[in-house]
Amino acid sequence: MNTSIPKPSASSAFRIVPLPTEVAEEARNAAKFHAKDHAVITVDSPDGYPCRHCLRWAKPGEHVILFPYASVPRGHPYSETGPIFVHAEPCERYDITGEYPADFRNGRVFRAYDADYNMIDAEVADGVEPEEIIEKLFQNPRVRFVDARSVARGCFTFRILRA
Ligand SMILES: [Zn+2]
Repeated sequence: MNTSIPKPSASSAFRIVPLPTEVAEEARNAAKFHAKDHAVITVDSPDGYPCRHCLRWAKPGEHVILFPYASVPRGHPYSETGPIFVHAEPCERYDITGEYPADFRNGRVFRAYDADYNMIDAEVADGVEPEEIIEKLFQNPRVRFVDARSVARGCFTFRILRA
């Protein structure tokens, strides 16, 4: 047997996809040039400003950029552009992609989409571990990806693919 391959953990049935670094960099550039749809905000609460690039809550006193992001591209019935935050300063992209991000275990809804970007299912993590919900949604073979969003505000947080 090949022993060099690490034993898959219970959470490795999926892959977390944070915002691409290019998108975060574009937002930082646009903010530098004072683009009207890119606002620089000083964080004033410990759990109000999730950075979609490092997948952590921005800390009070840090700066974030608020800008519109098309989580579901144009040309589909479920096309959607909504506001997201990234750290204004460069941050490290979340890279523990086999693990659900610890900062967002609560307050997320999970929307499941098919290959044509149609939303075909949705579940709220209500007293259930997110991993369980993700696994359940992926049991449907038509589900191509799952988007984690804020329950309260509906904002896109990150995408989840099958591992
Ligand atoms: Zn960040």
